[in-house]
Amino acid sequence: MESPTTLQQAIQFFGEYENCRQFMIAVRWPDGKVRCPQCESDKVTYLQAARLYRCYGDHPKQKFSLKVGTVFEDSPIGFDKWLPAVWLLVSCKNGISSYEVAAALGITQKSAWFMMHRIRLAMQSGSFRKLGGDGGEVEADETFIGGKARNMHVSKRQRRITGTGGKDKTAVMGILERGGEVRTVVVGSRRKNVLQTEVKKHVEAGAAVYTDALLSYDGLASVYAHQVIDHASQYVDGRVHTYGLENFWSLLKRGISGTYVSVEPFHLFRYLDEQTFRYNNRKDMENADRFKLALSQIVGKRLTYAEVTGKVGETSF
Ligand SMILES: [Zn+2]
Repeated sequence: MESPTTLQQAIQFFGEYENCRQFMIAVRWPDGKVRCPQCESDKVTYLQAARLYRCYGDHPKQKFSLKVGTVFEDSPIGFDKWLPAVWLLVSCKNGISSYEVAAALGITQKSAWFMMHRIRLAMQSGSFRKLGGDGGEVEADETFIGGKARNMHVSKRQRRITGTGGKDKTAVMGILERGGEVRTVVVGSRRKNVLQTEVKKHVEAGAAVYTDALLSYDGLASVYAHQVIDHASQYVDGRVHTYGLENFWSLLKRGISGTYVSVEPFHLFRYLDEQTFRYNNRKDMENADRFKLALSQIVGKRLTYAEVTGKVGETSF
């Protein structure tokens, strides 16, 4: 199947429902056999007029759409908008605001905002591989995100911040394997046990780990070849630095403050997932590859509006 390589082609291509259907089948079932989400049977019939499938198994919910069992489940928005929305989010280097997505796709900002959170869930890494194996070098560092809104005029502030919270800076920890991937995690504090638990969770024992002189990293040398950046000495070891992570932080902050204006701490990890996905998949990949990768991760995940907002009983549509 020919598939799109640019945003313009994607919008055109997915404007045809049949293309969306074939694409979704290829993503979800590489053998081409659509399976019932209830019983896994492939004895299903396509009901063209309703754009649904029907299973012959003896169970409720015999009819199902291709969205069932994915982050798109229960959404009244069509694939003609969902798929270009995924394209936009995986390909815009600094992210894209829900206002821009809404304008580009002809949907409400509220719908776009919710869609983007669902797409971020698909972008979440499921990798459990430890970093720094085989002599790899790892940088660990923390930064603070947010807090700017505190100085804004109150009416402007209320427009920019929905719900409660969002006033204080949130600590984020990053762990980067040089030449490899980055992991990010929102941490409640920069205490020793918090930061070292993350390092041990993500980094192979014995790896070279570089950090600044924060006391919370003291003691890592018992498990790692831990070296601390010495800003005071003029004889600095050229390998002992955290420039890789500092570069990532500046990308992240440019995206968050430039594109998203303000992010509630509650949602911060989703923006981290988004930026981390683009960063980890930046080399030797075209937008079309990132798009297919994100789509390969839509299955088996769900995010309801109540989960993302904490408001039960309200919908985005
Ligand atoms: Zn079935």
